[in-house]
Amino acid sequence: MMIGMTDELRTLLDQVADAALQREPPTRDQALAILRSSDADLLDVISAAGRVRRHFFGNRVKLNLIVNMKSGLCPEDCSYCSQRRGSEADVLKYNWVDPAEAAETADRAIAGGAKRICLVASGRGPSDRDVSRVAETVRVIKERHPGVEICTSLGLLSADRAERLAEVGVFAYNHNLNTSEANYGEICSTHTYADRVETVGVARMAGLSPCSGAIFGMGEADDEIVDLAIDLRKVDPDSVPVNFLIPFEGTPLAGEWQLTPQRCLRILALFRFFFPDTEVRIAGGREIHLRTLQTLGLHLANSIFLGDYLTSEGQAGKADLQMIADAGFVVEGQDQETLPTSRRDLVTIRRRGPGTEVPANA
Ligand code: SF4
Repeated sequence: MMIGMTDELRTLLDQVADAALQREPPTRDQALAILRSSDADLLDVISAAGRVRRHFFGNRVKLNLIVNMKSGLCPEDCSYCSQRRGSEADVLKYNWVDPAEAAETADRAIAGGAKRICLVASGRGPSDRDVSRVAETVRVIKERHPGVEICTSLGLLSADRAERLAEVGVFAYNHNLNTSEANYGEICSTHTYADRVETVGVARMAGLSPCSGAIFGMGEADDEIVDLAIDLRKVDPDSVPVNFLIPFEGTPLAGEWQLTPQRCLRILALFRFFFPDTEVRIAGGREIHLRTLQTLGLHLANSIFLGDYLTSEGQAGKADLQMIADAGFVVEGQDQETLPTSRRDLVTIRRRGPGTEVPANA
């Protein structure tokens, strides 16, 4: 479908936003029209998606902190990753930080407003020993901050390890689908898209809150962005990190600066429409791709990472807090629910028909 006139686009945006308020996703044609809209129409796109964001999340911004527990030297070959096999990126390389060091990093971030701590480790997946290490770190952090949400991102996961993580108090598990199924073989040869989908399911089955998102700026076509959004909706995550490629020197995708701030914002708007009442998080690449338009991203996403990423530095936490306040948003507290209760309203307890005095609805 070609959208040539702003009025047509405005009508489409109204339809898409109204559907999102009913938790309905855009159609493929609508999604493509949003991705292909012009920079001149950007504020209309942001306004429509911002309406959905405010409806479900008000003006709250959730802050998350990444702790890179084990950095570099991964046997996998994800081409976007500075920690991959053969990476010549000059990033920190170390084996498992000890629980006390991880907890100290968490202390500072929680004091700065972080509500979720994401414990991440490079590698194909955790061994039993790795899970024990993570469990000890979780114990130390939870002892000091019982209300904090802990997410772990440790790679491909077996059911028994997922259950163990849940038992020790891990709240969420992150495993991104990253790119469309059609494009997956281009960015990784050591595991498959299906492996990734499976791990998200394993985490969910163990009672962990599924967190699964994407990376953009790797040469994906508009159709592939839509394919991925549709697939991600099928795995039904509670949180969706949207990364924009950080093109590290020394990795196969070095020099790939394909994104503009406007394109990033259109992608974020699209994800808000696809995930209206789900936590949409601006993840890696926020500062370098959105640049001076970061604030507009807050009108679309309801969550960001505070401070540094896995192997690159982010904006200072203080600057993040200033940006949030300047834009009229507030940091979400540990005692506030992130996800709207409306997600649970989908189940309506029957109060009519057999066993009641009210006639059935059929
Ligand atoms: S994304 Fe994860 S699995 Fe892939 S190379 Fe990087 S650390 Fe390894």
